[in-house]
Amino acid sequence: MSAIEELLREDLRGRTAYGAPQLDVPVALNTNESSYAVPPEVVDEIVAAVAAVAPGLNRYPDREFTDLRTDLAAYLSRSGTRLRSEQVWAGNGSNEVLLHLLQAFGGQGREALGFTPAYSMHPIITATTGSTWVDGMRGVGAEDRRGGGAFDLSVESAVEQVERHDPHVVFLCSPNNPTGTALTLDVVTAVHDAAPRAVVVVDEAYAEFARAGTPSALTLLEGRPRLVVTRTMSKAFAFAGGRLGYLAADPELVDALRLVRMPYHLSAPAQAIARAALRHADTMLGTVDAIKEQRDRIVESLPGLGLDPVPSDANFVLFGGLRDSAATWRALLDRGVLVRDVGIDHYLRVTAGTPEETTAFLDAVAALGPDHLEGQP
Ligand code: PMP
Repeated sequence: MSAIEELLREDLRGRTAYGAPQLDVPVALNTNESSYAVPPEVVDEIVAAVAAVAPGLNRYPDREFTDLRTDLAAYLSRSGTRLRSEQVWAGNGSNEVLLHLLQAFGGQGREALGFTPAYSMHPIITATTGSTWVDGMRGVGAEDRRGGGAFDLSVESAVEQVERHDPHVVFLCSPNNPTGTALTLDVVTAVHDAAPRAVVVVDEAYAEFARAGTPSALTLLEGRPRLVVTRTMSKAFAFAGGRLGYLAADPELVDALRLVRMPYHLSAPAQAIARAALRHADTMLGTVDAIKEQRDRIVESLPGLGLDPVPSDANFVLFGGLRDSAATWRALLDRGVLVRDVGIDHYLRVTAGTPEETTAFLDAVAALGPDHLEGQP
C-alpha cells in the first residue's frame, strides 16, 4: 500500500475513479452529449450574459440563485406540471445535485438502493458520502437478456427489493442509463409507498428524449414530499459544458439541501449562461427530434448487422450480441468511433449523434466481421 493510500479513508482504498475516456476521435459517441454545437444566436447571448456579470465578479454571486431557479421552474412548468421556484434546486451538473441529496439524506449508517445496471455515478456518489450502496437488480438473468424488455423493472420486483432493504434513499433512473428504457409511473409510486423512510430520487436526465406518451415523475410530486426528480441541461439541452443540473421536489426538502451545499456553489457566469440558454429553450432543444430519429435508426439497423439493440427512450442505444465487448470497443475505436463499454458482458452503448455520425458508426459495425458476434463459431 502506498503512503497516500494508507492515509486515504478505508472505504475509498482500491476504488477507481469515474473515467469515461476523453479521447480526440473523429466520432465521439460515448458520453451521451449532444453532437450539435450551441447555435450562434445563443452563443451571442451567452457572451453578452458573461460580459454583463464580469464587472461584478469582485462580489460573490447570489447564493440562492433566485433568478435561475425561477427560470428553471418556468421551463419545467412548460411540460404541464406547475412548479414554483422554491421547489427547484440546481448544481454544477445533476451529479452535484445528486451529491447534495446523498449528503443530506445518506451518510454513515444509511443505505441507498439503486436497480442496476443503471447510472454508474449513483453508487459512486453514494460511497463518497459514506453511505452504503445496495445493488438492486433490474430484469432477469443474463442468459435471458437478449431482446428488448430484458432490463425492465417490474413493480413486483422493485417493491420486493425495496421492502427487503428499507433504504434511506432509492434511485430510479428513467429513462435508464445505460439500458435506455423509461419506467412506468406505477413503478415510481409503488417504490415510493414501499419505502416509507426513503427519499426517492427519479433521475430523469434523458426525459426530453422519451418516446411519445412517456409521462414524467414531475406529475407525481404533488402530495409526495419524499419524491425528487432530477434533470440536467447536459443532454437534450446540448449544454454539457455549461454544467447545470437541477431537481424539483417539495420546498422543505429543497431547503434542506442548503445545509450541505458549499456557499456560492453556482458561479455568477454559470448562473448567467444557464439563464441565457434557458431564454432560448426552443432553439436549444431544436435538435431533439433529429437525435431521436438517429436513435431509432440505430435500433432499426442493428438487427440487420446481427446485433440486439434494447429499445430506447434516451439519446443512446445499448446493444448486445457481441462475443467480447472490450474487443469490439477497441475495433470500433480503431475505425475512429468511440462508444462506451458499460461493463455489461456482450453489450456496448452508443450515443445517437448526427446522421453522419450514425452512418460512420453503422459502417464501422458492418466492417467488424462475424467473429465479433456472440454465438459465431
Ligand atoms: N444522470 C444520468 C442518468 C446520466 O447519464 C448523467 C450523465 N451521464 C447524469 C445524471 C449527470 O449528468 P450531468 O452531471 O452532466 O448533469
